[in-house]
Amino acid sequence: MIKPALPANEAERLAALHRYRILDTAREQEFEDLVTIARTLCGTAMGAVTLIDQDRQWFKALQGFESEQTTRDEAFCAHAILQPGQLTVVPDARQDARFCGNPAVVGEPNIRFYAGAPLLSSDGHALGTLCVFDSAPGMLDADRASALRALSRQVGRMMEMRLLRREIDHHHREHAWYEARLAEYYQQLEQTNLELSEQTRTDPLTGLPNRRALAAAMSASIERAVEGPPAVAIVDIDHFKRVNDIHGHSEGDRVLTELADVLRAQFAGRGMAARFGGEEFVILMPGTPLHQAELQCHYLREAVRLLPIGLPLSVSIGLAAHRAGETPADTLRRADAALYQAKAQGRDRVVLAD
Ligand code: GH3
Ligand code: MG
Ligand code: MG
Repeated sequence: MIKPALPANEAERLAALHRYRILDTAREQEFEDLVTIARTLCGTAMGAVTLIDQDRQWFKALQGFESEQTTRDEAFCAHAILQPGQLTVVPDARQDARFCGNPAVVGEPNIRFYAGAPLLSSDGHALGTLCVFDSAPGMLDADRASALRALSRQVGRMMEMRLLRREIDHHHREHAWYEARLAEYYQQLEQTNLELSEQTRTDPLTGLPNRRALAAAMSASIERAVEGPPAVAIVDIDHFKRVNDIHGHSEGDRVLTELADVLRAQFAGRGMAARFGGEEFVILMPGTPLHQAELQCHYLREAVRLLPIGLPLSVSIGLAAHRAGETPADTLRRADAALYQAKAQGRDRVVLAD
């Protein structure tokens, strides 16, 4: 027995083989089918698709004999790949110096006849063979030899297709992964945008809408003519500076927050209470007649007086109804003038604008 030599380009050949990622994969019917055809064609009991790895011969398909793999040294096919361009035919292995002492010849499965057609990679490396063998000596005529070679080319094409399928699958998975990431980023972006626009419209201390949000709501309310003109009240805490001076700034913040809660509760669903700045708030009452709005302001004034916050608190309120042709700023200016009067008249009261 002569051990098979290594092909000159063995490193490249192994790299090509490993690129197919076929070693140690499950048996596949398509490969078995080609072995069946080869065996039937050549009239042999056994046949295989073998691949020659660094130190072993591994069977992708095998018929007439049970094995996973053999050593490379004992592999008939390791000799066959040394002649990539041609069929290796061994009529009787006992008469061939390369195989006479081979365990597969001396013992099971007692190989005598062997014919192997190299499997070529797309770049011409012999990766293994499609082979047929038998325990009786034999021969191949020219037609069968060329048919066996044609079948081995089919095996090669199947390996190419397998590789392509894997690449396409991989591509699909990658594509899906990128799409999912993209959707995630997009969602995060939208969420951040939402939060940012919310922030630009909200007063951070009280959580009420701020001046900017109020302006937008007021314009919208004025445009919705069908519901009637909105009433607008400016609410200013009386002597708030004293709260800060006597109880401290953080206590002042707590009072602002408490008042904001009262405003929110009272006007939820029927208007908007916004923090206008400092200790001033604005109530927008869409489509509310002035006398109704005035009543709401008195309720609010009372509610503030009764707030159980451990210190006396009151508000002054200037109230105006929007007039046709007025800008939001005009209406607010009149409400502010009314507020000024409320302060001048002694605070803790509601004054209607002219
Ligand atoms: P008036 O009855 O005339 O309205 O008197 P006032 O003291 O309420 O009015 P003034 O404008 O003199 O003072 C308002 C105070 O509100 C001054 C300012 O320090 C305080 N203030 C404004 N914003 C805040 C805030 O966010 N937190 C606290 N704690 N105080 C604030
Ligand atoms: Mg003020
Ligand atoms: Mg004040």
